[in-house]
Amino acid sequence: MDAASTASARLRELLIAGGVVAARSGPVAPAHFDAVRASLMVARGDVTSDRFTFRNPSRSANPPGWARWSVAVAVGYPVGEGSGDGLRVAAYARTDTYSSLRDLLSGGVAILREEGIKAAYSIDSNGAFDKAFARRNRLGWVGRNTLVMIPGWGPAVVIGTILTGTPIEIAIGREAGRWPCGSCARCQMACPTGALTGGGEIVPKLCVAWVGQKESLSAGERRALGTRVYGCDECIVACPVGSRRRRPLPTLPPSQITEASPEEVIDRFGHWYIPRRDPRFVYRNALVALANRGRYDRNARQAVVRFLLDEDSRMRREALLAWLALRHHAEAAS
Ligand code: SF4
Ligand code: SF4
Repeated sequence: MDAASTASARLRELLIAGGVVAARSGPVAPAHFDAVRASLMVARGDVTSDRFTFRNPSRSANPPGWARWSVAVAVGYPVGEGSGDGLRVAAYARTDTYSSLRDLLSGGVAILREEGIKAAYSIDSNGAFDKAFARRNRLGWVGRNTLVMIPGWGPAVVIGTILTGTPIEIAIGREAGRWPCGSCARCQMACPTGALTGGGEIVPKLCVAWVGQKESLSAGERRALGTRVYGCDECIVACPVGSRRRRPLPTLPPSQITEASPEEVIDRFGHWYIPRRDPRFVYRNALVALANRGRYDRNARQAVVRFLLDEDSRMRREALLAWLALRHHAEAAS
């Protein structure tokens, strides 16, 4: 066997042992379409240019000169409706799914380098359009929900890419065939904020996952968060592709956040994107979610009292808003 065939066999073995739901390889080409779309979103003001591929779309669209080949990889995670009356967390963020994928891809890169093949990986970074590799390699379709959907599995995946200097043949999972969306619009109808345009585009600043990371929230944004404390799964749960795999998932007990010290919050939820790693974003979202849940029970009472006494005036304001909302719910119910 030559080095490329040995590397390909070893990489395949690693990816299968790591539980990937799909991986497919193909030649590299610039992602001009994705770069133009990202630039338009920034120009329209749909998204700020401070994150991910929105920072410098044309640079992200052009892989390094040595990269001739790509291996697009998808790792799945369980997803379903939240059960119980706790706080809702996006399914991908319940465990550190991105770290699992990162470990796998970095192991793959190490194997390729051992075989003398130049390689690097990217995940959710500002360095590459991973969706473009997934689409081109026919790993999955990019659906009307703007997510990569894997045949037979659906959109509950995180994706990454290994770039190589030598062609590597990998084919795990079914090749994506005909686009499955057709006239379906379930994701668009399920979206609580109208963030999905229906034309396969998203307005990120409207997406709950983005809203929950904002410094301050309007009344409408507070309502949009619902009982979610981090991220949102509505467009994934609504999708018929892979729906038979969905199961109810338990919600998060509020005390895990509202009774935790700042250090405990970062320790438990450090794999979330928390701006400046400031736990006040997590506390704030928990207070908003408790207010939206509308029950002034022990959890809500303890949270309100704790943060009414907080040294930070912003947290005291959040606690007051939560208390007022809960009192309003109580009066409306009586
Ligand atoms: S994650 Fe939620 S808010 Fe964002 S597009 Fe999907 S359904 Fe809409
Ligand atoms: S819900 Fe329907 S339209 Fe949306 S991504 Fe899934 S199949 Fe496509």
